[in-house]
Amino acid sequence: MKQFLNFINGEFVATGKTFDKRTPVDNRVIGQVHEAGQPEVDAAVAAAHAAMKGEWGRLGVVRRTELLHAVADEINRRFDEFLAVELADTGKPHSLASHIDIPRGAANFKVFADIVKNVPTESFTMTTPDGGTAVSYALRSPLGVVAVVCPWNLPLLLMTWKVGPALACGNAVIVKPSEETPATATLLAEVMNHVGIPKGVYQVLHGFGPGSAGEFLTRHPGVDGITFTGETRTGEAIMAAAARGVRPVSFELGGKNAGIVFADADFDQAVAGITRSAFENCGQVCLGTERIYVQRPIFEQFVQALKARAEALLIGPPEQPGVGLGPLISAEHKQKVMGYYALAKAEGATVVTGGGEPAMPAALAEGHWVQPTIWTGLPESARVIREEIFGPCCHIAPFDTEEEAVALANATDYGLATTVWTTDLGTAHRMASAIEVGLCWINSWFLRDLRTAFGGAKASGIGREGGVHSLEFYTELRNVMIKL
Ligand code: NAD
Repeated sequence: MKQFLNFINGEFVATGKTFDKRTPVDNRVIGQVHEAGQPEVDAAVAAAHAAMKGEWGRLGVVRRTELLHAVADEINRRFDEFLAVELADTGKPHSLASHIDIPRGAANFKVFADIVKNVPTESFTMTTPDGGTAVSYALRSPLGVVAVVCPWNLPLLLMTWKVGPALACGNAVIVKPSEETPATATLLAEVMNHVGIPKGVYQVLHGFGPGSAGEFLTRHPGVDGITFTGETRTGEAIMAAAARGVRPVSFELGGKNAGIVFADADFDQAVAGITRSAFENCGQVCLGTERIYVQRPIFEQFVQALKARAEALLIGPPEQPGVGLGPLISAEHKQKVMGYYALAKAEGATVVTGGGEPAMPAALAEGHWVQPTIWTGLPESARVIREEIFGPCCHIAPFDTEEEAVALANATDYGLATTVWTTDLGTAHRMASAIEVGLCWINSWFLRDLRTAFGGAKASGIGREGGVHSLEFYTELRNVMIKL
């Protein structure tokens, strides 16, 4: 049985306490995860501080960024291994993980290495009251020991999205992967050792949140900052932990994103785009759209077209050719999503398609499969429209005017992303500025340029990462003033 060990100070560490890792495809146990307790957290924090005071702290940006390029190259060399373990952990389609999760996981190291190497700092000259001159310039120093707490939906990609810039800026990281997806973070530890990243710079602690590695790590006074991706409620708990010692946080949290389709949109492109934003990764994407608003003249036609797309999605395991929809991550998450499927009916929804479990072959019967689901007819007050479900489902409602679409999109506590489909340039620009989100896609969805800012407004997050914006969190900006 595969053992997922902690990685502390350059060594793989077993603990006396393990829990099962099951694959979502058929619920088989595929490994034992070694849960870190307080002693392992203490050891990792001490090793990270030693690394910052040692070779890593003295390395300099050029050598550091060379090492990060080597990390990316080594991930790409071991691409098939990373892909295999990510598929085993998540059950997502091979086509998705091979095009997004693993290549982006590697790219995150190169992109941030190059940004950090090339970013300038400011300098000002001023006249002093005595008629002399003073020159100021800025220095960036690493934040220190950074806790990276990760979710399960895009495990390698979202983890390296934090680890890449953190290491490029000269920090040491302690990663707490999701208990559901321990594999790629553990495999990355082998890569770190292989390319010569010094001990204590990249460490991995496995376990859960409350009363386990997540809480012990985020409460640890030796952690200088916390970057977290996950549910808004978990963010609140981590923020409370970070308050002690006034430690900075960077949060990428939940969403209840609106997709908006105007009557003048390229119809086929809009249907294809919303099919992805509603169902990709079995709806387990923070940027996904569970609320769709379609302008009235094309409403019925759109509902029927999306229904046809949903029903054409092939549900199956990662390696099955043509598969478009994998399982949900866990039995617990399936229970949550099926709860919302039942709630939608109780709230009076019209079930356009889905709403239940698909019939699967006997070998896959224990997997966490659900049908892609579309509802109409619910009032905006319905819980299914207000709460993040994180499943392959959406509610579609009609709208008449641009103002109405903006009001509907903004009527939520969240503010992560939106996708707007229109061929009118004026409409596109007005919508982009009026919808209260961190990320607005026009005639596209989940299209990323890693140099741009990423993050959520309102309850969807704190701070922005991506490009130079990552430096805001991962470095301390200092000012030096010299009186000449
Ligand atoms: P989660 O909040 O349940 O767990 C995320 C991580 O936090 C896990 O590693 C977990 O063990 C840890 N954790 C839980 N409680 C903790 C605590 N009290 N202290 C410290 N650590 C704790 O989220 P999830 O279910 O893994 O992921 C799905 C959620 O993530 C969704 O809400 C989704 O919208 C969000 N998400 C957001 C983004 C974004 O960029 N905004 C990206 C991906 C996922």
